[in-house]
Amino acid sequence: MDCLFCKIAAKEIPSTIVYEDDLCLAFDDIAPQAPVHSLVIPKKHIATSNDITEGDEQLMGHLMRVASEVAKLKGIDQSGFRTVINCNADSGQLVFHIHLHVLGGRKMSWPPG
Ligand code: AMP
Ligand code: ZN
Repeated sequence: MDCLFCKIAAKEIPSTIVYEDDLCLAFDDIAPQAPVHSLVIPKKHIATSNDITEGDEQLMGHLMRVASEVAKLKGIDQSGFRTVINCNADSGQLVFHIHLHVLGGRKMSWPPG
């Protein structure tokens, strides 16, 4: 499949890896929007939030826990961070392999733009 994040998960395309296990990979975003901006992806291809099945529930929970682990590794767990999953056009989703953005290291505004 011609998917950028599948290729990153397979190490066919290099990334700055922050965390890895059997189920997922976390790496730094190539165009960071905050001092800390990492992405957590499942190794399994899931295109969007709309494509999460019942069988993926444990995996998605794992990704959430890893997002917090990444925040801890990056030293922003106590100062705070934001996790974001964009879905489809209105959210600005550009890569159609589900990913959690982990953003922090600066004060965030709300509501998001
Ligand atoms: P989204 O708009 O939610 O689909 O986010 C896609 C994210 O992937 C953006 O923040 C991009 O900067 C990031 N991105 C695209 N290509 C790469 C890459 N090769 N390595 C790391 N991050 C990437
Ligand atoms: Zn993929």
